[in-house]
Amino acid sequence: MADRHVLVINSGSSSLKFQLVDPDSGISRATGSVDQIGEPSSEIPDHDAALRRAFDMLADDGVDLADCGLVAVGHRVVHGGNQFHRPTLLDDEVIAELHEISPLAPLHNPPAIQGIEVARELLPDTPHIAVFDTAFFHHLPPAAATYAIDRELAQAWEIRRYGFHGTSHEYVSAQAAAFLDMPLQSVNQIVLHLGNGASASAIVGGRPVETSMGLTPLEGLVMGTRSGDIDPGVYSYLWRTAKMNVDEIESMLNKKSGVLGLAGERDFRRLRSMIESGDAAAKLGYDVFIHRLRKYIGAYLAVLGHTDVVTFTAGIGEHDAAVRRDALAGLVELGIELDEGRNVDGSGMRRISTDDSRITVLVVPTNEELAIARDCVSVL
Ligand code: ADP
Repeated sequence: MADRHVLVINSGSSSLKFQLVDPDSGISRATGSVDQIGEPSSEIPDHDAALRRAFDMLADDGVDLADCGLVAVGHRVVHGGNQFHRPTLLDDEVIAELHEISPLAPLHNPPAIQGIEVARELLPDTPHIAVFDTAFFHHLPPAAATYAIDRELAQAWEIRRYGFHGTSHEYVSAQAAAFLDMPLQSVNQIVLHLGNGASASAIVGGRPVETSMGLTPLEGLVMGTRSGDIDPGVYSYLWRTAKMNVDEIESMLNKKSGVLGLAGERDFRRLRSMIESGDAAAKLGYDVFIHRLRKYIGAYLAVLGHTDVVTFTAGIGEHDAAVRRDALAGLVELGIELDEGRNVDGSGMRRISTDDSRITVLVVPTNEELAIARDCVSVL
């Protein structure tokens, strides 16, 4: 078979990441990102300009999109609402429906839709496919998907726990089962996706039974700039007493909270040097992050009852040995024992628990672009 490629596009509010990937071999032919879209100092005013720049970058890389076996353009879309839980071929009707569900993800979906509209103009003859971050969690058990609020109100406004990072949780959980040489159907697992955004999931036989993000990607773990779980009473208190409006509160919780809000820094490499030089705020930010993570691990061990494997993935999960150590320290009675040598040394997919640990602990690099590309070819 001749080489075929999928162009995967991930449009965020101020950045556009792209990758040209062979869905069969998994080999990435080209990758890049255009940042600072729409920022005052930037020469990239909007997503149209960003995508044109991305195409120039591909051309500079020697990629001819007209002659590289391009079979699809895959678009990462954060929120699929209740409607979309499969990779979906994009046409005008689907795009209109995406506009309709945008209020569910006002920070995330509009830039993705913009990216889709521009990409369809630039590549009109290639199928464009949307892959949703919520899709994997569509069939969460009702007890896990339901908020304990007024039932009719929740139904009227489609308020439920949707879950995000689904492409990563699905891909990594399948990789973990394959690494253990066990059929996915028989593995109970916890996946910890720790990047700038962070989420945890509990998965039984390849199907998620719990996940930490909810209606929006704000719930759950402490993240780079997001608070994660917070008493909803904080909203009304800030509104009523601090006189902040809803946009200001939302922006504070999404962009100025989490580790950045506590420590003034969100990158865990720099956070580490700050802690080492005695910065108390950095230490507290890190401790709050770890404490929340441990609470979730404990909760998910209880949700699962029996757990075969706990897997770390994404930027922090794959690279920060101290986070992995602190997240799982002292859990021998719960069946988890890390091998510090394996934790610190090595890279890529590997076991980091001792041979005697009842629960296996793995590091598995995520690859959302490849997973999206494979989702795309599955609908062609
Ligand atoms: P995104 O959610 O943007 O896809 P990533 O999964 O790429 O995020 O994770 C990015 C984060 O991973 C960085 O902000 C940084 O905190 C962390 N990170 C990346 N490399 C390392 C490293 N070598 N050591 C510690 N943390 C790292």
